[in-house]
Amino acid sequence: MKFVSLRKFIYKTQKNFGWVITAVLLIIPVALWVLMQPLSVRFSSSASTLTSIGQLTGLIGIVMFALAMILSSRTKYLGALFGGMDRLYRIHHAIGILAFMFILLHPLFLAGTYALSSLRNAALFLLPGLDVSIDFGIYSLLLLFVLILITLFARFRYEIMKFLHQILGVSFLLAAAHIVLIKSDITQSIPLRAYIMSLIALGTLAYVYRTLLGRIAIKRYAYVVTAVAAHPSNIVEISMEPKDRSQKLSYLPGQFVFIQFVNDIVGDEKHPFSLSSSPYTPELRIAVKALGDYTTKLAALSVGTEARVEGPYGDFVYFKTFRPKNKKQIWIAGGSGLAPFLGMARDILYSARDTSEYVIDLYYTARSKADLAFLDELTAISNTLKHFRVIPFCADEKGYLTASNVIEESKGISGKEIFVCGPPPMMKSLKQQFADLDIPAYSVHTEEFKLL
Ligand SMILES: Cc1cc2nc3c(=O)[nH]c(=O)nc-3n(C[C@H](O)[C@H](O)[C@H](O)COP(=O)(O)OP(=O)(O)OC[C@H]3O[C@@H](n4cnc5c(N)ncnc54)[C@H](O)[C@@H]3O)c2cc1C
Repeated sequence: MKFVSLRKFIYKTQKNFGWVITAVLLIIPVALWVLMQPLSVRFSSSASTLTSIGQLTGLIGIVMFALAMILSSRTKYLGALFGGMDRLYRIHHAIGILAFMFILLHPLFLAGTYALSSLRNAALFLLPGLDVSIDFGIYSLLLLFVLILITLFARFRYEIMKFLHQILGVSFLLAAAHIVLIKSDITQSIPLRAYIMSLIALGTLAYVYRTLLGRIAIKRYAYVVTAVAAHPSNIVEISMEPKDRSQKLSYLPGQFVFIQFVNDIVGDEKHPFSLSSSPYTPELRIAVKALGDYTTKLAALSVGTEARVEGPYGDFVYFKTFRPKNKKQIWIAGGSGLAPFLGMARDILYSARDTSEYVIDLYYTARSKADLAFLDELTAISNTLKHFRVIPFCADEKGYLTASNVIEESKGISGKEIFVCGPPPMMKSLKQQFADLDIPAYSVHTEEFKLL
């Protein structure tokens, strides 16, 4: 196998490790279920076939629901295992939808067994009242159904949607009670019961850790705002220092955190922001573009305001790539997407590590020159570091940046690491252009400012 394709294979396996784990976690209970009774018996008649499919969809549904809950705990290790926080969120989202579909099919197939003899009995089976262990299942599905409908069709503020999303945990707890109480294959097989109960316990733990006890269980560092600097293009850079110097966040340049300011004006929401500071500088910084109701208020923050910082998260770090030895890099920033690059550029300047081998072209794109908020500082850094170039690229002068622009300006891009962070349409278009040029996926690194 040629070296490049071996690298692609390793990279793909790493990137899809999350799905590999999911598949294994699903195969185990299905295998245990198959071993309990010959399939010829399970699918010997229409009634037993409907029952078996009903049981299987229930089993797969609860395993996926538990996995979605576990992934929502957002622990760093899970982020690493699933190929980054943004991928973890996407897999969490996909598994959540799949869990809902299987859980919806579960009672329908079981009701189908009754429908073979009486539609009335089938309808009664789907209604609460007959058996509390079934009722828990019905209420769980009902709640899930309502919340998924709201998620799909309602357009509430992000914070309200996030709160409603957290109520999904209640539906999970009701489903867990259904599984614990109902007489089923899970009660008859000790290995299957042990397996399902462990997953339910982990899912419950994740829900309690992240949601119910989040305020106390999750480590958050106390910081104090030391400066709020306004910049062009509605960007403010907020500097903070640790309240207790021994409790300082340890992070890598380019990573992101969830920040909550203790301030009545901005409210106590937690939002993700990339760190625009280098770990080699005393203060922690974020550079925020006023976008919606929360970010617009941040300019009003006052010095002395307390901040609670959770993290760090993410792998968008110039020395944390699939080929760490590869020091020839292209950085492409659009608008507020400059924030992680600001952290990385400052890191190259202040770092105690030897960064002299890095050869970096930073394309700083914006609508117009006036929007290039940090151009002066970046130009100063490039004047100090001979292998660090800043290339301003304004749409009103040159149109949108393309891969061919980069190839021309940087004298080729193959073999270089490419980092991109900016507005979603820009990222999508550039990723596609690089793919069309056969640039291997493992050398294109992106940070999406959107988790879901
Ligand atoms: C990994 C990551 C790093 C980011 N880094 C930066 C940065 O350095 N600078 C910067 O200006 N912006 C950054 N963002 C985007 C920033 O988090 C959103 O712009 C901000 O949360 C918007 O909040 P709002 O209430 O002002 O806007 P809204 O209009 O309420 O939301 C706009 C969009 O922002 C997202 N969003 C809103 N609230 C939250 C929340 N609590 N948690 C997660 N997403 C939310 C949603 O996708 C929403 O659709 C980053 C986002 C992510 C995921």
